Amino acid sequence: MNNPLNFSSKGTCVNVGCIPKKLFHVAATFGESREDMVASGWDIDAHAPHSWEKMVKGVRKYIKSLYWGAKKTLKLNHVDYFNKLGRFVDEHTIEVT
Ligand SMILES: Cc1cc2nc3c(=O)[nH]c(=O)nc-3n(C[C@H](O)[C@H](O)[C@H](O)COP(=O)(O)OP(=O)(O)OC[C@H]3O[C@@H](n4cnc5c(N)ncnc54)[C@H](O)[C@@H]3O)c2cc1C
Repeated sequence: MNNPLNFSSKGTCVNVGCIPKKLFHVAATFGESREDMVASGWDIDAHAPHSWEKMVKGVRKYIKSLYWGAKKTLKLNHVDYFNKLGRFVDEHTIEVT
């Protein structure tokens, strides 16, 4: 059986936690900042439309880049990575299925 959550390496923070949350949050604050920018003298369109699809695509692309970075680091350090469900068989042995 594969990893049931189908997470790649890097765990919760990178895949569905801190990193995507922060990127979505920053995207939202950019939108909210526009009116303050206009009030501060910036010549921008405070009502320009936002593309949800483009934002999600950008977040996924960034997470993918972290995933490949992690894979490379594991490889460089001769660490075997299995995207599988693990189970301790004894203190020194993990079985992956
Ligand atoms: C929405 C959200 C936002 C968050 N924001 C922040 C934040 O801003 N700042 C912050 O500090 N923390 C944040 N967190 C918390 C942070 O993500 C976790 O504290 C952190 O990821 C925990 O790291 P970990 O290595 O202990 O576990 P994880 O990152 O969860 O890693 C465990 C990994 O092991 C895998 N795994 C589990 N059991 C098995 C098994 N039997 N076999 C194989 N693989 C297995 C899981 O699939 C997972 O990939 C957030 C969490 C969420 C959900």
